[in-house]
Amino acid sequence: GNFIPPIKSNGGNAGNVTSRVAGKSDDASDDSTKRCLEMLCGPDGELPEKLRNLEPRLIEHISNEIMDRDPNVRWDDIAGLDHAKKCVTEMVIWPLLRPDIFKGCRSPGRGLLLFGPPGTGKTMIGKAIAGEAKATFFYISASSLTSKWIGEGEKLVRALFGVASCRQPAVIFVDEIDSLLSQRKSEGEHESSRRLKTQFLIEMEGFDSGSEQILLIGATNRPQELDEAARRRLTKRLYIPLPSSEARAWIIHNLLEKDGLFKLSKDEIDTVCSWTEGYSGSDMKNLVKDASMGPLREALKQGIEITKLKKEDMRPVTLKDFEDALQEVRPSVSPNELGTYDEWNKQFGSLS
Ligand code: ADP
Repeated sequence: GNFIPPIKSNGGNAGNVTSRVAGKSDDASDDSTKRCLEMLCGPDGELPEKLRNLEPRLIEHISNEIMDRDPNVRWDDIAGLDHAKKCVTEMVIWPLLRPDIFKGCRSPGRGLLLFGPPGTGKTMIGKAIAGEAKATFFYISASSLTSKWIGEGEKLVRALFGVASCRQPAVIFVDEIDSLLSQRKSEGEHESSRRLKTQFLIEMEGFDSGSEQILLIGATNRPQELDEAARRRLTKRLYIPLPSSEARAWIIHNLLEKDGLFKLSKDEIDTVCSWTEGYSGSDMKNLVKDASMGPLREALKQGIEITKLKKEDMRPVTLKDFEDALQEVRPSVSPNELGTYDEWNKQFGSLS
């Protein structure tokens, strides 16, 4: 009785669309799922071939949770990392903007690996690439595929690549890619995670050989865990190191300036930078946040009520605020880990 014939109707065709994709009838009746599917239909009102056998709720999850239409990060927001920015511009952004020039000998690799300590701007680079290349950005954490989507990861991966191919140019950013493509074979490896890995490699192979404008970016803090198959597919591998002293100064300046709190002298900034050797970009952000609480705490100590506090009641952030914040915010990366990255970079990284 619920059968809807697979022919085009005059008005909203989502009823037909959803009837043609595999799934439960509950899904098909869901309005938001219908809207999602409608948005993916071609000009002829038909759902693209690749999406027809996928479950609507997975397509919806990809469209709503994993796809980011406006990643909102620009190159200028990222401190330092000039080498990575230069490589990525040539290898990724230009080809996405001018696919007609980047063919044949110039055809770009479709897989990029960003490796290095946590909190150094890998995700920011992924978002900036999508922003600069006017591409749709898809963000997925590989560990969620193995933990949250147990048994369904494979289907979700197919849906991810399917939706991405309808939203070209597209950048698929896979965080913690080591947990998906690790070399730990083994008795312990579950059948389901082996299938997930195979599915992922098949999807990558698929768009690598075709003319699709999809770039896969994998990010990892543990590059040494990746196996040979993963390395082969992620042809360019860029080391994203801890920020230099200049980059740390830039982060402090940029964050405080945005809030109109910047009053430090050049010498004072240099002092903070000398105190923060080994801090990641993310540690620096936390440090600035903590330091900027100093003026607020002091104003409250003087008896001003938080509800009556005006911006003018607070002094600018000082060197002493940073000194205090350093007690609270410690570096999150241990110096011992850095050697591993250097070695892996020498062996497998793209150095020029
Ligand atoms: P990763 O993906 O390498 O773990 P993220 O890109 O998620 O790190 O960075 C986390 C946060 O740390 C960012 O949102 C940003 O505020 C800050 N950050 C890290 N690296 C940089 C950088 N190079 N320039 C500016 N901010 C940075």
